[in-house]
Amino acid sequence: MQELTHYINGEHVKGTSGRFADVMNPATGDVQAQTPLASVEEMNRAVDYATAAQPKWAATNPQRRARVLMKFVSLLNRDMDKLAEALSREHGKTLPDAAGDVQRGLEVVEYCIGAPQLLKGDFTDSAGPGIDMYSMRQALGVTAGITPFNFPAMIPMWMFAPAIACGNAFILKPSERDPSVPLMLAELFEEAGLPKGILQVVNGDKVAVDAILHHDVIQSVGFVGSTPIAEYIYATGCANAKRVQCFGGAKNHMIIMPDADMDQAADALVGAGYGAAGERCMAISVAVAVGDDTADRLLEKLVPRIESLKVGPYTSGNDVDYGPVVTAAAKANIERLVQTGVDQGAKLVVDGRGFSLQGYENGFFIGPHLFDNVTADMDIYKTEIFGPVLCTMRAKTYEDALKLAMDHEYGNGTAIFTRDGDAARDFANRINVGMVGINVPIPVPLAYHTFGGWTMSVFGDLNQHGPDAFKFYTRTKTVTARWPSGIKEGGEFSIPVME
Ligand code: NAD
Repeated sequence: MQELTHYINGEHVKGTSGRFADVMNPATGDVQAQTPLASVEEMNRAVDYATAAQPKWAATNPQRRARVLMKFVSLLNRDMDKLAEALSREHGKTLPDAAGDVQRGLEVVEYCIGAPQLLKGDFTDSAGPGIDMYSMRQALGVTAGITPFNFPAMIPMWMFAPAIACGNAFILKPSERDPSVPLMLAELFEEAGLPKGILQVVNGDKVAVDAILHHDVIQSVGFVGSTPIAEYIYATGCANAKRVQCFGGAKNHMIIMPDADMDQAADALVGAGYGAAGERCMAISVAVAVGDDTADRLLEKLVPRIESLKVGPYTSGNDVDYGPVVTAAAKANIERLVQTGVDQGAKLVVDGRGFSLQGYENGFFIGPHLFDNVTADMDIYKTEIFGPVLCTMRAKTYEDALKLAMDHEYGNGTAIFTRDGDAARDFANRINVGMVGINVPIPVPLAYHTFGGWTMSVFGDLNQHGPDAFKFYTRTKTVTARWPSGIKEGGEFSIPVME
C-alpha cells in the first residue's frame, strides 16, 4: 500500500500523527494509497518554515518572482499528461477533463505572471507643499488554503499562484480524497525555482484545518468546499482576526426560454449536468423550462442524449463522457436523494438506478438520472446533489423562472438560453447570482476575471483569481513623505552676497 506524504520545507515528509485516510480508486473501489492526517505539531512545523522563508521571498523583486511562475507554467505543460493521469486515478474524472482541471489552474498562474504590473502602487506627486503620497501593496506573510476534492489542481492554483506571486508563503491543506496532484504541484513549483518553505502541502482533516484557523502567524485563509464547512471556517477565521474568503455549495439553474434553440440547449445541458458526474460547483443541476410546450420540446431532445451517455473509467480515454463519483459515501448519498425524488412525486424520466459496469462492479459509478415535474419543496431541488442527476422544472412565465432561481439559497452560477437579447439582458441584470451565462451553460470566468458566487455560495468580500486575488493576498500601506528643502542645494563655492 502506497503511503503518501506531506510536502514540508522542500521535502516529502512522512506523517507522524499515526492517523491516515484511505485514498480510493473510484473506478475500481479499491484503496490505492493512504494519506497522512496531520497533527497540530506537524502544521506548526510547516508554519515555522514558512515564517522563516517568507521575508526573503517578499524581498525578491516581483519580476524575478514572476520568472519562477513562468518556469512553473512550462513545467505544468511538460507534465500535463502525468498530472492528468494522477488526477483521474484519485478523482475518477475523465482524462480530458482532468487535463482541463490542470489547464484552468495553469491559466491563473499565467495571469499571475503579470504581478509586477498588478502590484504597482499609486503615487501622488505634491499632495501638499513638498509632500508626496504613495500607496504600496505588501505581502501578508504566511497564508493558507483549504481545498475540495473536485478540482484538485485548479482550485489550489487559484489560491497559491496569486498568494506566492504577491510575495507570501502558502500552506495548502488539500482534500484528503485526492492529495497526489497537490503534492506534485508543490514539487514542480520548486523545480521552477521557488525557495523551500514558500509552498508547502500539509495533508489532513479537521485537525489540520483547526490548526490553521487558530495559528496566530497565519494571516489569511482561503476555502473552497461545501457551505456548512465554509460557514464554519469563515466564522472561526474571522473571530481569530484573519482575512478569510470562503466559497461554498451551489444549485445552478438554467432557464430555457420558448425561443431557445432546443438542440443547443439540450447539448449544453448534457455537458453541464453530467460532465464530471455532476461533481462541479458550476454544474447545471436544474433546468427550468418556461412553458409546458418548451419543457416537452426540451425533453424530446434531451432524453435520447442522456440515454446515450457513456459512463466508464478514465482508462477508457476519450471514449467516456463521465466517470465514477468520488467515494462510496458520495454514491450512497446521491442514490438516497434520487429515492427522495421518487418518493416525493417527481417523475424519473431517465432512471439510472441499478447501473453496473462489467469489470468495475465495485466502482462508484452512477447512471444518469433525469427528473421532470420537480417542485421547489422537494429535497432533490433544495439540496446540492453533486451527482449525475438533472432536475427539470416547469415555470409558467419568465418571471416565475427568474423568481425560482432568485429564491434558492445558493447563488453560484446560472444560465439563460434564448434568442431574445432583451430577455437575456434583463436576466443578467436582475438575477442575484455571481456568474451568469447567456447561451453558455458553465460560465466559469477566465483567469483575468474573478470567480465567485453570491448568497450562500460565498462568505467574504473578494472573489477568487483576477484582480481580486491581488487585493486579497496583499495589504495596502500608504506613505506620506515630506523632505525639508535645502538638502538639494549641495555645496556653495562662491562667497555669499546679499540679494
Ligand atoms: P468539503 O466541504 O467536504 O471539503 C472541503 C475541504 O474542507 C476539504 O479539504 C476537507 O478536508 C475540509 N473539511 C471537511 N470537513 C471539515 C470539517 N468538519 N472541518 C474542517 N474542515 C473540513 O467539500 P468537498 O466534498 O471536498 O467538495 C465539494 C463541495 O465543494 C461542493 O459543495 C461544491 O459545490 C463545493 N465547491 C464550491 C466551489 C466554489 O467555487 N463555490 C468550487 C468547487 C467546489
